[in-house]
Amino acid sequence: MLRLTPILLAIGYAIVMYRISVWRTHRELDAKSTELADPVLKRMTDRLAAALEIDRVPVYIYEIDPVNGLAAPDGRIFITRGFYRKFRNGEVSAEEMASVIAHELGHVALGHAKRRMIDFSGQNAMRTALIMVLNRFIPFIGAMIANALTSLLASRLSRQDEYEADEYAAALLTKAGIGIGPQKSLFHKLEDLTQQRAGVAPAWLMSHPKTGERIAALEALEQRWARG
Ligand SMILES: [Zn+2]
Repeated sequence: MLRLTPILLAIGYAIVMYRISVWRTHRELDAKSTELADPVLKRMTDRLAAALEIDRVPVYIYEIDPVNGLAAPDGRIFITRGFYRKFRNGEVSAEEMASVIAHELGHVALGHAKRRMIDFSGQNAMRTALIMVLNRFIPFIGAMIANALTSLLASRLSRQDEYEADEYAAALLTKAGIGIGPQKSLFHKLEDLTQQRAGVAPAWLMSHPKTGERIAALEALEQRWARG
C-alpha cells in the first residue's frame, strides 16, 4: 500500500486539476459571451439546423480578439469577436462562417468537445502525474518520457480530431446545400492572413493541422463521394 500511495496521490491530483480547469473554462465562457444576433448568419445556422433536424444551433460571440472558434460539450458554439469582425468587414463570407460553425458542431457531435475543454493546466496536471508515477520506476528519464508522452498524445489526439471535424463539416455543409467550397476558401484566406502578418497565424489555424493538408484531405473526400 505504501508503495502505491504516491501513485494514488498523483492520480487524485490529476483528477482535481482536470475538474478545476473544466470549471474555469466554463466560467470564462459564460462571463465573456453573448448569444449571436445576426440575421444573415442566423439564416446560415438555420440551414445547418434543418440539415441536422434540430430546432436551432446555439451560437455565441466570445469577447476576445484572436480569430478562433470553439465548442463547449453542452453544444454551444463560440465564435470570437475577432472572427465575427472579419465577417462584418466582408473579409470572411457568411458561408465561410457557416463552415467554421459546422466544424465546431463536428467537435461536439463526435465527442471531442469534452476533451478539448482541458486547457493547459489540465495537460500540465496529466504531465505532473505521469512524472510522479514514472519517476518511481525509472528515475530521471521518467520525467523525459512523461513529457514526450503527454505532448505526443495531445498533438496526435488533436490532429485526428481536426480531420474528423472537417469531414463532419463537409458532410453537413453538403447536406445543407452550402457545399465544401467555403470550407476550402476560408482555409486559403486564413493562410494568406498568416503570410501578411509575417507568420503570425490566427489561433484557429495554430491549433489545427497544416492548411494545405486539410484542403488535400477535403479534396480526397470529394473524390471519394463523387465515386459514390
Ligand atoms: Zn477544430
